[in-house]
Amino acid sequence: MSSEKEINHYINEIKDLKELIDIGKSLNSNLTYSTLLDSLLLTCMGHARTVKAGLFIKNDIDSKDFTLYRNYEGFNPDKNIQYSIDEKSELITSLRNAPCCMTMPELLQDIKEIADIKPFTLLEPSLIIPIVMKNDVQGIILLGARITKASFSDKEKDFLRTVADLGAIAIHNTFLLEVSSTDMMTKLKQRHILFQNLREIMIDYRDESICVLMMDIDNFKKLNDNYGHTFGDVVIKEVASTILKLIRREDVAARYGGEEFSVVLRYIQLDVAIKIAERIRKTIENKVFKTGGTEVTTTISIGAVKYIPQMDKVPQDVIKRADEALYRAKETGRNKVVQA
Ligand code: GH3
Ligand code: MG
Ligand code: MG
Repeated sequence: MSSEKEINHYINEIKDLKELIDIGKSLNSNLTYSTLLDSLLLTCMGHARTVKAGLFIKNDIDSKDFTLYRNYEGFNPDKNIQYSIDEKSELITSLRNAPCCMTMPELLQDIKEIADIKPFTLLEPSLIIPIVMKNDVQGIILLGARITKASFSDKEKDFLRTVADLGAIAIHNTFLLEVSSTDMMTKLKQRHILFQNLREIMIDYRDESICVLMMDIDNFKKLNDNYGHTFGDVVIKEVASTILKLIRREDVAARYGGEEFSVVLRYIQLDVAIKIAERIRKTIENKVFKTGGTEVTTTISIGAVKYIPQMDKVPQDVIKRADEALYRAKETGRNKVVQA
């Protein structure tokens, strides 16, 4: 290399490294899983100059499959097809052993079980980027056709691979945070996260309307006694998943205790919060559980309060008022929503 060429080469290398540091910083400052994944995809798209990108990732803490993440860009997946890849498939083993960026023809040279990679074949990616950390495949990014039509150079593949490595660290960190704040049985947040959430709201309060719901399954001791603890667990999980389905993304639902749950609802007036609570109560009331040929139903009681800054100085204050409302719901017949 002539000295001028050499200097330019190193200038470019430094530029790339600086860019990677910025990408690493930006990915690691994302603490929520979904914004992190979105920003990883957008970063890859920007660098690869593609208008499509998708990500296969485990969508649950104990999931066995990698499925197409809902926030794909540009791809038009068929709603009737399940785009998923088994963690035990040849593809995942191959990516674990040789984690490098590949085009579809390159991948097809390595994989014998074509059926395993059917989701990829359907999406026709221009490049496949594994996200691997410590021999553990965390996900796979698929890029669509490039705007430039040019094929990927080794340098570009290396760059994207490094972006995926940085993404892997960030994903691992948010995953650890997610696990340590989640109640593994119900997949709701742990109680201390709810308190932390309330504490943050109180510190940064900006005249928004916030409501808190406290819920408790009715006569649950009897249900445990009659049908067993294992069946009781099934009911707890179903109640938790119903709550999760009926609240919004920005709300925080926690397992407050054994069969007690609490939800913090933001930007909402008490009458609307009560409507949500009613919907949860009715949905649970209408559920039929089956155990050993018997059909079992259950109900929950709910206490609902609006956060009042002049009154609720610490998270415990508003929780206590919601708990009192819940107590009144229990006292006055159960299976109802009572407001403070
Ligand atoms: P009430 O309508 O007044 O709430 O009556 P209750 O029988 O539901 O009373 P309480 O809420 O005090 O009962 C809680 C029971 O929940 C006691 C405990 O054995 C049971 N429980 C707590 N955690 C779990 C759990 O993880 N699994 C199961 N199966 N039962 C649990
Ligand atoms: Mg109870
Ligand atoms: Mg209870």
